[in-house]
Amino acid sequence: MSRAPASSSESVGNAAAASRQAFAAWVDETQDGRVFAQVFIRGRESGYELRHKDDVDAGDLELYEDPRSAREISRLTEAGEHRPLKSAPNLRRGWILRVPDARALAVAMNYLYPAAVVHWYLERGGRLEITSYRENAARQSGIYKRVQRLSDDGVQNAARACCEDDVCLKRTLWDVDDETALRMDRGSGEIPCPEPCSLFFSFARRARLFEREERERDASGLTPSEREDLATLMDAAAAGEVKPAREAEFEEPLNERRLRYRRLTLVPILRDGE
Ligand code: SF4
Repeated sequence: MSRAPASSSESVGNAAAASRQAFAAWVDETQDGRVFAQVFIRGRESGYELRHKDDVDAGDLELYEDPRSAREISRLTEAGEHRPLKSAPNLRRGWILRVPDARALAVAMNYLYPAAVVHWYLERGGRLEITSYRENAARQSGIYKRVQRLSDDGVQNAARACCEDDVCLKRTLWDVDDETALRMDRGSGEIPCPEPCSLFFSFARRARLFEREERERDASGLTPSEREDLATLMDAAAAGEVKPAREAEFEEPLNERRLRYRRLTLVPILRDGE
């Protein structure tokens, strides 16, 4: 699936300025405020107010008035962990940000959800360029070159493990290639995802390494890493300490995306011997 990019008559700078105005107008259209991913935005007498969508009725919020504060707000999860993927549903609560105008609103949104407002604007105009997994994989080099060899099933499972709403609030628009659509719940949020992101490629690399282990399945039908993941999970569960690894630590057996991938690829083997 591929659509025309922003026309050459509309430069990147123009698209950014137009998206800023369109986004502010979209917020202004309603008195009720708008929800964009996990942020609630509403107009004020002068300017805009942003907060976590679950804090709409909360009192006692920490007030920020510089749009660049959004960078700090979006940096860590509630538990104080780094957020490598800003569209993951783990934006912390407890803050309110007041900004004076549409330009400052766009600055804040760009820290909270990088490039999301421009993509949102281009998609509404039918001009968001969408590129497939295979097209993007062909451009990878160095240690990421191996993602070119990930099978179609591997891409499907990696996308379901990495991109569904439980782990990323963007709406996945890209496909495996022009002939092969992703078979997954693409999500329904406001932010389109036009191409696989760097975190996805990092996971795809891990998934390719799993695929390469296929020839090492033992008599019980498990690969070495599947065996290790199960042992780690059982140890942790027995000790009452199943603490998920950090978001982008795909080498860790208890990483959430890795566990989601195992649910798709390993559980059928364990249950049905498939
Ligand atoms: S590729 Fe997947 S994980 Fe990355 S931003 Fe897009 S939907 Fe989210």
